[in-house]
Amino acid sequence: MAWYPGATKMELQPESDRQEAIRPTQLILHSIVANWTARRTYEFWRDSTTLESHFGIGYGLRDIAQYIGTETRADANAGANRRPDGTGAISVETASNSTATDPWNDSQVEELIDLGVWAHEEHDIPLRICRTHDDPGFGYHSMFPQWSTSGTACPGVARIKQFREVVFPGIVARANGQTTTPEETDVPHNLSRSDDRERQLTPGKWTTVPIGNVDLLAGATAYTVTAWLNLTATRGGTVQGRFYHSRPDGSRWKSPITERITTTGGSFLDFPHAGSIDTGERVRFEAVYYPDDPADETPVPITSSRARGLYWK
Ligand SMILES: [Zn+2]
Repeated sequence: MAWYPGATKMELQPESDRQEAIRPTQLILHSIVANWTARRTYEFWRDSTTLESHFGIGYGLRDIAQYIGTETRADANAGANRRPDGTGAISVETASNSTATDPWNDSQVEELIDLGVWAHEEHDIPLRICRTHDDPGFGYHSMFPQWSTSGTACPGVARIKQFREVVFPGIVARANGQTTTPEETDVPHNLSRSDDRERQLTPGKWTTVPIGNVDLLAGATAYTVTAWLNLTATRGGTVQGRFYHSRPDGSRWKSPITERITTTGGSFLDFPHAGSIDTGERVRFEAVYYPDDPADETPVPITSSRARGLYWK
């Protein structure tokens, strides 16, 4: 049983003694859809439901509590609570407004970053965003369907953006010994590329799109980047895009797919992604085009492409 020294201990019984052990490999963030202190969340778990999270974070300064040791199963994220191999996720509930549309406030962001660093150091949770539902790393509730029983938008659009742009990069930066959050420093490097060479997308075929260079990034540890494609296609077609990490041994890791719809005339499509990479991996971007008419085999031209983002070394 591990207890985070930064949190107030409010142990839930009988769950804390009775629930199975886990080996924590993931940290999953939630919004509780209520303006609750960490103690009020404890009372809710204790009095009103058999579910619970490991942690609760209120809006107030340093208002963070732990309800269950991190090596015991907590029941907040369905299939990720405890998998058959004994691994599981640490769950963190956070106070939010009643529609889970507000961003985390500054003290919540601070608590999430500190807790993430502790989870990395205490349990060796790797500094990356989960790539699959059982991949070790950091994530948020709606990231994979296996993490909820009937689908969820948790923790909300604003917080998902903060997770990718502030919280997760903040965990990486602080775990690597930087003392301020990325927002507040010029530690991240800028990625800015543009490419006006025309390239063809053949329907149904994944095609690597060089933007300036085929390697968008090399030698980085974490990044948040958006690729933009300017292309001319018929209306109602679909363009899917994803980033991949090309490894020295020739294998690759692929990001989730982002899908966009083409409009009449030119379409300007954005494909965002945030991730972490290992030394030696190179970040590249690829896209595939599906015309509205499946029999249409005409390639569509990408007339220009852009990549913008931040990365950490
Ligand atoms: Zn949730």
